[in-house]
Amino acid sequence: MHLARLRLQGFRNLADVRLELPPEGIALVGPNAQGKTNLLEAIHYLELFRSFRGVRDAELVRFGEAFFRVEGVVRGATGGGEERTLAAAWQREGARKRVTLDGVEPERLADAVGHLGAVLFTPADLALVNDGPHERRRFLDIVLSLNEPGYLGALQRYRRVLGQRNAALREGGAAAIAAWDEPLVREGARVFASRRAWIAGVGEAFASLHAEISGGEPAELVYLPALPTDARPDDAETFDESLRSALRSSVDQERRMQTTVVGPHRDEFRMRVPNGGRLRDVRSYGSGGQRRSVALALRLLEARTLEEQRGRAPILLMDDVFAELDEARSERVLELLERTAVGQVILTAPRASDIRLRGDRLPRWSIRDGVIQMGEWGP
Ligand code: ATP
Ligand code: MG
Repeated sequence: MHLARLRLQGFRNLADVRLELPPEGIALVGPNAQGKTNLLEAIHYLELFRSFRGVRDAELVRFGEAFFRVEGVVRGATGGGEERTLAAAWQREGARKRVTLDGVEPERLADAVGHLGAVLFTPADLALVNDGPHERRRFLDIVLSLNEPGYLGALQRYRRVLGQRNAALREGGAAAIAAWDEPLVREGARVFASRRAWIAGVGEAFASLHAEISGGEPAELVYLPALPTDARPDDAETFDESLRSALRSSVDQERRMQTTVVGPHRDEFRMRVPNGGRLRDVRSYGSGGQRRSVALALRLLEARTLEEQRGRAPILLMDDVFAELDEARSERVLELLERTAVGQVILTAPRASDIRLRGDRLPRWSIRDGVIQMGEWGP
């Protein structure tokens, strides 16, 4: 399965782009600030129907334009030559977004996400390691929303209930607050359990991917559900019990702070790698290269999850991935990708010499000022 055609209008500096993409993909070369990342962001928009950076749609509209539109034709979703058209348009007036699958608006956005099957690797992935828990929760939510039926719905319901409960904490009495406890427990336990199951399930794969990238360093993923330490359950079935009792015991604190302090909206997970003789949190103690390797391992996990769930190789969108790895790490990542990436690869780099993955096999395209052409840049 691959992205066969792409049409962009008014998407950041990509004013008007029409591409026929080969099944193996392309290597896109162009200097800084020409639109390489914008192109990958536009393609990935068809997976999530929002920016991978989590920014507002308004920021994606080309300066001075009224709307943007992204349309992609995916070929071979079921192994044959069938095509499926994914499209999204957003207009400034009324801040309206319209998403369609084969021309039809799905009932819920949850039905629209995940039809492209793409994973994006970017230098910004370092935020997964360096930034606060919010970035890691977003990562979990995206991976699970795309790969576990029902997760996105539960998450959306959880957020709604959380908003109501927080409003009650600000304004309401005890009864008004308590009314939201059971709905919060129901959806929250579901979210907790899915996150925990995913993290537990990919632990070994994470360790082995990381060992391969780093040349043998061990690593572990640790889930830290936002529950009092003594209330973290031993098995997924008792998350509801744990959350219920945590809510009971924190209600005084919550009324003081006027917000819900336990529950999956405050979850965290840590990645530990060797530092000073034992495994420690990479966010606090890791070197630049260690951070980069961990971020790559997380994206490779995402790709592996997608492949397992859907039974086909993901489309890999790779934004200048080798930029900050040392020679040995780049070599190993390259080997790893050569073995895993059997689907379409769309990669970008500022210099042709940075195109290392399938450099000889991918057609070389170029970009200047938002205009893409086949081959080297020329008149
Ligand atoms: P680098 O190699 O530095 O990563 P790049 O080719 O990936 O560069 P992009 O980030 O894709 O560059 O594009 C950056 C350009 O897009 C910037 O010069 C910026 O001015 C332009 N740009 C960003 N947002 C908009 C917008 N809403 N409308 C028009 N142009 C925009
Ligand atoms: Mg870029």
